[in-house]
Amino acid sequence: QNVPRFCGFRHVALRCASQQAAATRQTKASGVKTGFMDLAGGTPLIRLNRMSEETGCEILAKAEFMNGGGSVKDRPALYLIREAVNSGKLRPGGTIIEGTAGNTGIGLAHMCNSMGYKCVFYMPNIMSQEKIDLLRTLGAEVRPVPVVPWSDPANYNNQAAALAESMDNAYWTHQFDNLANKRSHYETTGPEIWRDTDGTVDAVVLGTGTGGTLAGVSTYLKEQNPDIKAFLVDPPGSMLYNYFKHGKLEPSEGRGIAEGVGQTRITKNLEGAPIDDAIYVADQDIVNTVLRLLNEDGLFVGGSSGMNVFAAYTVAQKMGPGHTIVTALCDGGQRYFNKIFSQAELEERGLYEGVPDEYKRCLH
Ligand code: PMP
Repeated sequence: QNVPRFCGFRHVALRCASQQAAATRQTKASGVKTGFMDLAGGTPLIRLNRMSEETGCEILAKAEFMNGGGSVKDRPALYLIREAVNSGKLRPGGTIIEGTAGNTGIGLAHMCNSMGYKCVFYMPNIMSQEKIDLLRTLGAEVRPVPVVPWSDPANYNNQAAALAESMDNAYWTHQFDNLANKRSHYETTGPEIWRDTDGTVDAVVLGTGTGGTLAGVSTYLKEQNPDIKAFLVDPPGSMLYNYFKHGKLEPSEGRGIAEGVGQTRITKNLEGAPIDDAIYVADQDIVNTVLRLLNEDGLFVGGSSGMNVFAAYTVAQKMGPGHTIVTALCDGGQRYFNKIFSQAELEERGLYEGVPDEYKRCLH
């Protein structure tokens, strides 16, 4: 396998004051990280042992919650900032503005703190309070706004664009349509999966918010081996399942408890991604798989991770024994104490009764 052993971010050059400062903090020891930006990428691939044994496949989960900011979005956050700085659109002391379900904002906020930028985030007001609290603790300005369609000027992304337009030295990173997002996964996540499976990966199974992860990873892996299959995973209420199955952008059934996944349009990042099939995962399966990962594997993760793993298990059953299936654990469970891990919230959504009794002790 001709893939460099290190697929992290040291090659990411930033022509900004903080980068020059970082250059003066050089260390001779090769194992030392020189700043927050070095904490993006290089996450481990974890074998889900029970599920692998049950299916006869290798079901492997990329631990994206182990990035420095705690989610899969640290990788694009760094690429988006790098692009803003290197293009001259963001100058020292400037402000990053973004529409986010939370995790991109958290990644950006950490990076902004480490590089000396300010940040403002518009978020749909249905996201977890834990993510809003964390963002404010990181010093970001958070503006929760009602959920309205993309075409509405009050949509969280349009508000982010308008604010950036009205300010001096402010930059809207626009994760949905900015291809720096997909590139971060094409250049790091994909190569890491190829390297860590010694090129044995047969399928990748990934949910989509912006589409950056799925598009970047599937494009890279299929370039290495065109036989690798790519599956898009979609939660209740999202339109991508119906789009890929029936060519119609129409919402699927249900409400959707997982945050950061699901989409009502084809973003520029998702456009043209080599996708073989789409899989719908119901909320009950998402919740029960999150609790299964906690109890069987010791992995405390959020809803999109449960969704991804349930779909990976389904793919393993369909493909049959002997295959290597890779998915991702996108963020940690700490962000959802009052959502997926709350009995009252699950009761309100009609999901509590369906939780296996032995897992109910994990809810509060
Ligand atoms: N899971 C979580 C928890 C997320 O925050 C996101 C990002 N929106 C995703 C999955 C999907 O990642 P992507 O934007 O690359 O499609």
